[in-house]
Amino acid sequence: MKIFKFGGASVNSVERIKNLKHIVQAYQQDPLVIIVSAMGKTTNGLEKVVQAFYKGNKTEALQLFEVVKNQHLTTAKYLLVFQYNACIAQLNDFFTEVEWLLHDKPVRSYDYYYDQIVCTGELFSTCLISHFLNEEKIDNQWLDVRDLLRTDNNFRDAGVQFEYSATRIKDAINGYKGNITITQGFIGATDDNESTTLGREGSDYTAAIFANILDAESLTIWKDVEGVMNADPKAFPDAALIKALNFTEVIEMAYYGAQVIHPKTIKPLQNKGIPLLVKCFLDPALPGTLIHDKYIKDLPAIIVVKADQVLMSLKTKDFSFIGEAPMSQLYDMFGLVKIKPNLIQTGAIQLQLCLDNHEEKIDQLASACSQLFDVQIEKQLNLLTIRHYTEPIMQDLLAGKDILLEQKTKETIQCVYRNKA
Ligand code: ASP
Ligand code: MG
Repeated sequence: MKIFKFGGASVNSVERIKNLKHIVQAYQQDPLVIIVSAMGKTTNGLEKVVQAFYKGNKTEALQLFEVVKNQHLTTAKYLLVFQYNACIAQLNDFFTEVEWLLHDKPVRSYDYYYDQIVCTGELFSTCLISHFLNEEKIDNQWLDVRDLLRTDNNFRDAGVQFEYSATRIKDAINGYKGNITITQGFIGATDDNESTTLGREGSDYTAAIFANILDAESLTIWKDVEGVMNADPKAFPDAALIKALNFTEVIEMAYYGAQVIHPKTIKPLQNKGIPLLVKCFLDPALPGTLIHDKYIKDLPAIIVVKADQVLMSLKTKDFSFIGEAPMSQLYDMFGLVKIKPNLIQTGAIQLQLCLDNHEEKIDQLASACSQLFDVQIEKQLNLLTIRHYTEPIMQDLLAGKDILLEQKTKETIQCVYRNKA
């Protein structure tokens, strides 16, 4: 059994859905579970519906929802013939549920409503795709993943209950006589049948959970890029494809800010040694990137740039050395403010932290720190990380930069620098 995951960009138009069909057609001899995200920017569109609803702007919420509805109805019109009526009937059921909710007044938490509304994007897209594949004689079952993937009620960042979900998922997939199953990424439900979501970009994670539970031979994530690149091609035109990576390297890359794959995706795969393929849906013949357990020699330099960084410099007020007590207090503050420095540099009387620019959290941390230290803040900085650097690459990338801080290990160099004025 193979698991495929198609993201929003791979299903954002009639043409792209037809393209998905060609890919599935080439693999339909084997059992296949296909996990799909919402079409294009649907999730963002639905987020706006929630915001309007929660502010009490019912009319605006309904109008914004109408836009999302029409996008899907138009897609159905151009995509389907024989299955059109059946698809529209199913879509209308989903639409009605949202519209009923939008007519109510919000009495529960924002995050609860967020999940009830935002979860529908994946239901719409999979409904269209499943009907289309059936129409094209690629028989498949459509499953509502909310009947299978049980989560806690931590809305917007729900935790998956593996054991219960495993039984349901195995029954639903193994009990089906056909080869192809279509279901949703990113969403689940509580034992009270309330919808939940797993955090933005969570479809990769759903796919990894399915792969783990079904002991899949592989997971393939279909993207609009050639595979995993050693740098963002938009910023570095020389960026090159990395043919193979191991799980640990991908986790490191995600930690330093590379937007490759949702970081939660790796663990369920690594635990069972299931390889992950990142392939290009625009040219499926390309080999893509293979991510697996094996050690890989000679990785190229991997470059990650995180923009919008803040450097917080903390000096002891009395010029005493920074000792154990203030350090442990500082770590407690990170926990309280729920902030994770991207880099920490310790000196005799000065500590420096490089942080993402979450304004509220930075303010909270600065005011907490000011009880212990003199605090200085500089904003609008960048954090450059180079893994597996070589001297020439390092010199090339650091040349001409106004560098405030540099940290180097055998594997990795990181530096914080100012934007050019
Ligand atoms: N549709 C969701 C999002 O845009 C989940 C995903 O794409 O993985 O965040
Ligand atoms: Mg996505």
